[in-house]
Amino acid sequence: MQFSERVFCGELSSEDIGRRVLLAGWVDAFRDHGGLLFIHLRDRSGIVQIVFSPDAAANDVCRQAALLRSEYCIAVSGDVRKRLAGTENPNIETGQIEVFVTELAVLSESDALPFSVSDKAMVAGALSVGSDHVAEDLRLQYRYLDIRRPAMRDNLMARHRIFRCVREFLDSRGFVEIETPVLTASTPEGARDYLVPSRIHPQNFYALPQSPQLFKQLLMIGGMERYFQLARCFRDEDLRPNRQPEFTQLDIEASFIDEEFLYELIEELTVRMFAIGGIDLPRPFARMTYTEAMDTTGSDRPDLRFGLRFVDVTDVFSETRYSIFRQILQRGGCIKGINIQGQSEKLSKNVLQNEYAREIAPSFGAKGMTWMRAEGGKLESNIVQFFSGQELAELKRLFAVSDGDVLILIADPSYAVATSALGQLRLHLADRLGLIPENSFYPVWITEFPLFEPTDEGGVTSSHHPFTAPDREDFDPKNLEELLSLKSRAYDLVMNGEELGGGSIRINNRDLQRKIFAALGLSEEETREKFGFFLRAFDFGAPPHGGLALGMDRTVSMILRTPSIREVIAFPKNRSAVCPLTGAPSAVKREQLAELGLLNLGGQEALPGTAEKEDPIDHLSWVSRIGISAAERPVMEEILAGAEALGRLAKEKAGSEEPIRTVTPVSNRMRPGTKEQRSELAESGKLLKSAPSVKGNYFKVASILE
Ligand code: ASP
Repeated sequence: MQFSERVFCGELSSEDIGRRVLLAGWVDAFRDHGGLLFIHLRDRSGIVQIVFSPDAAANDVCRQAALLRSEYCIAVSGDVRKRLAGTENPNIETGQIEVFVTELAVLSESDALPFSVSDKAMVAGALSVGSDHVAEDLRLQYRYLDIRRPAMRDNLMARHRIFRCVREFLDSRGFVEIETPVLTASTPEGARDYLVPSRIHPQNFYALPQSPQLFKQLLMIGGMERYFQLARCFRDEDLRPNRQPEFTQLDIEASFIDEEFLYELIEELTVRMFAIGGIDLPRPFARMTYTEAMDTTGSDRPDLRFGLRFVDVTDVFSETRYSIFRQILQRGGCIKGINIQGQSEKLSKNVLQNEYAREIAPSFGAKGMTWMRAEGGKLESNIVQFFSGQELAELKRLFAVSDGDVLILIADPSYAVATSALGQLRLHLADRLGLIPENSFYPVWITEFPLFEPTDEGGVTSSHHPFTAPDREDFDPKNLEELLSLKSRAYDLVMNGEELGGGSIRINNRDLQRKIFAALGLSEEETREKFGFFLRAFDFGAPPHGGLALGMDRTVSMILRTPSIREVIAFPKNRSAVCPLTGAPSAVKREQLAELGLLNLGGQEALPGTAEKEDPIDHLSWVSRIGISAAERPVMEEILAGAEALGRLAKEKAGSEEPIRTVTPVSNRMRPGTKEQRSELAESGKLLKSAPSVKGNYFKVASILE
């Protein structure tokens, strides 16, 4: 059989009837009809039914075929025939035809599978097996089998098409794809770094990039003008369901541009990417300031597919008799509410009081929740008697209340607590009441973020990153109140309550950049140490520039409507940031640690996560801080065996006595004629600085070495 003649299973059609073809792939499913054997042969393009019949194939081919099992890898050649009327299979694209095999080659056998790969039933009307019920860790452990499943294969193929669309579109707009280093120095994006130790420079570390932020800005200073990269980024963050320690982001930067340039570019690109999933996004995308988003939805990534926008009713109760509200307002608090229109049938008094007010609202941080139902032109609730007629009339007007509506109010001395709790209630209610339309997509740009957030220590930290331009430059970096009032020129792209990406117009003025670092509380020295190389570049004519990054795993997952981003990543980590396939992260050999100069860090006796404490050679290597190579091991093993025998003897003599550690006089042995030299490091005591234990001028070591 000549693979060069191979055709793809899924590409065969009625037009091929009468043709002799060579096919190769995997046994997806089989059915034995006493003498006639039917097999679904699957390759990346799809499935075609192949038939082993004594009429077409020689006896030994049929005998060999009878031994085929699921996922055997085979090649066959045979003739394409039209299926007999009534035996067509609408479950597969090639269901009108089948291939009568004349030759078979078993290329490789397969063990019994840990889960079914096949999801196309062989007979019209029959149910497919599928593997949706399989535990995710098992799927990830056998990811190569999981990828054989059409659903996973389709996801990866669609991801490829989306990435291709990105490249083609950005190329057409003059953007150049440039790779930036993966072994690099720390980039401030607010997460922890993954560190990579350097062997050549012991006890020094590279950081994996949290983003290519610094490099893309340097590319702008380098005059590249328009850059993009489908960049792998690494952030050591706490586990969250839809997060991966490494992820892919579309990183973009451009010079001599403003916000509008980026909005237009990204909207056009996003529309094209979503079209690959058959989704028609509305353009232009909506825009909302951060303040408006927080005021009306309690979130800076608002889900705008449904209403339930907040109405502020603080002023309605400025003179209220209702003591709970009065006290909250006296403490500078606010009252916000939502109108859940026409849902009073689904939200009974019991549900509102016992579920929402008692349980759910407090679980979102609210200290209380007030509800009212509109019936017969009136607002009803357990506390409505405390409100004046005017207050009730104002509520009805502000919320445009009709019968059947339900009002929910949250009052709290803290604006943040009130908006956050009501925001979570908004999402909870929308989900419970089925108010989120399926297959709807609502993109929105969130703009005018605060430049800084307060820290617990009384300072500020960047809301985005320290390279984001503020809305004005004439601020005092020491005035906390003023700093917290600054807005940034940052923008996030949010869709359906998820942040797809974000970016900003950057600072391109060195003095302003220094001022921002000063506001962040970094001393001149710290700034120089961390960002000296970066700031230096601003001394050489930095152009105005800006950019953004889109999380591609999240974007592809949304386009393909998958339940998690892991469904669109070939080899993801599981929810515990572990790769069940390779077992990463895993312990390493002490030898490796020794080689990297990591055994002696902090004088710790045992490093967590190291595997071979039990191995006596490794233990010896550990106590002696000496790397032992594979070639040296047999010699060491022999020496150790001897030492052990001695040890046993000594133990017998010593009985239950503890082994002793002693210091023996050590002298430098010199070649005859060489003058003894003393290191300055030894004289000054520096030599022994990291010794685990010292006596006088000597290292104290376990007696086995003496
Ligand atoms: N570096 C930012 C991030 O990774 C995006 C940007 O500002 O371009 O979130």
